[in-house]
Amino acid sequence: MFAQSAFRTRYAHWLSAIGILLLLGGCAEEPSALERVQAEGVLRVITRNSPATYFQDRNGETGFEYELVKRFADDLDLELQIETADNLDELFARLGKPGGPVLAAAGLVESDGRQQVARFSTPYLEVTPQIIYRNGQQRPTRPDDLLDKRILVLKGSSHAEQLAALKVEFPGLNYEESAAVEVVDLLRMVDEGQIDLTLVDSNELAMNQVYFPNVRVAFDLGDSQSLAWAVAPGEDTSLLDEVNAFLQRAQQNGSLQRLKERYYGHVDVLGYVGAYTFAKHLQQRLPRYEKHFRQAAQVQGLDWRLLAAMGYQESLWQPSATSKTGVRGLMMLTLRTAQAMGVSNRLDPKQSIDGGAKYIVHVKELLPESIQEPDRTWFALAAYNVGGGHLEDARKLTEAEGLNPDKWLDVQKILPRLSQKQWYSKTRYGYARGGEPVHFVRNIRRYYDILTWVTQPQLEGSQVAESGLHVPGVNKTLPQEDTPPL
Ligand code: GLU
Repeated sequence: MFAQSAFRTRYAHWLSAIGILLLLGGCAEEPSALERVQAEGVLRVITRNSPATYFQDRNGETGFEYELVKRFADDLDLELQIETADNLDELFARLGKPGGPVLAAAGLVESDGRQQVARFSTPYLEVTPQIIYRNGQQRPTRPDDLLDKRILVLKGSSHAEQLAALKVEFPGLNYEESAAVEVVDLLRMVDEGQIDLTLVDSNELAMNQVYFPNVRVAFDLGDSQSLAWAVAPGEDTSLLDEVNAFLQRAQQNGSLQRLKERYYGHVDVLGYVGAYTFAKHLQQRLPRYEKHFRQAAQVQGLDWRLLAAMGYQESLWQPSATSKTGVRGLMMLTLRTAQAMGVSNRLDPKQSIDGGAKYIVHVKELLPESIQEPDRTWFALAAYNVGGGHLEDARKLTEAEGLNPDKWLDVQKILPRLSQKQWYSKTRYGYARGGEPVHFVRNIRRYYDILTWVTQPQLEGSQVAESGLHVPGVNKTLPQEDTPPL
């Protein structure tokens, strides 16, 4: 007894010293998840290659998740490194592995089944799982209607989890999961009748509706769910806390809302009917004129998708379009413009496209040097629509307001004033329908964004494409309209 307590007394200070050293050593060797990321200066993020998450477009990397996570990395002064997983199971398996991604930003639903494999941030988007069917087929309206149907969902998805739960209640329910496809493929397969139904998140449908004309919502399966970012499970919440603080800032300063509008607002801008119609025209009309757009764009040094977007805005890709005011053809040229651009027959689609391309370049060259890209393109479109003189008037009014006359965001706010006497009476060129160029530019940008996604080279050469499941793309063989366009 005595010996033992003497031992304790004698060695107590040693023991506590060792304890403190171990503790300190432990701290030095095991920095928090956030400290590790900061020390390396790199944020490794895993995602999916899909339109709602991450893809390459004309300007490089883009996508809803990419843009949001890039802002997060910039806020923390970190370099962003994106990795993509081929499927959802792989995504969760790689998350948090040593030297691997520390964050998953991939349109992930915070589902019960995922509590073991990840910890989720605060939500950044509310979505509803929707059963999708093909227009013309009988519309399912409740879970009973799903029996005896060919249903396909993504392997390892929240939707597979939902259907598994539903199968307990309806043992007759059959569905398949595939790791070889993405959500766009599921929608295309419904669109083309290869499967009867699928289950996707409402945000994915909102983004993709514009190129699948036959896809319709049957019904919402269950309540809304939260999309969130995920980190590996564990006690350490340092990175997650930082993520949550960022998402809260993005919510408060409106940047999250703007991003949602840009990616998921197509249907809001085009309307549901407009979205189906665009999708139909994309398949049926664009393939006829695509080569003309490409050629004209190459000659003039433009992006062909911008020209195609203009053509859609002008005539819905109809070469014989004519307006009451006498503008005609696919690019709706006035007689004067057509003559100036060397167009002898405005109803000839190739001539019209060549003329339109030449004209937009001409208009762009006349803009003040101070206007830089990408604004320069939007100003050129506005001048194409309303005329350079009126645009100049609007720029002057913009400057007088203390705003920046070289920024489209500022000038578009002022342009509608050109139709109000109190304002236009003070301008050089007078009255103009100033709201029109704002719509014109907004619509063209919207079509341009959609066309950019649809024609992105990355998807055309992707694994999905190689596996024999073609992805939406206007270069692919698409069904031709059986009646000539009007
Ligand atoms: N949001 C789905 C999930 O978390 C993936 C995308 C989808 O299937 O629509 O699994």
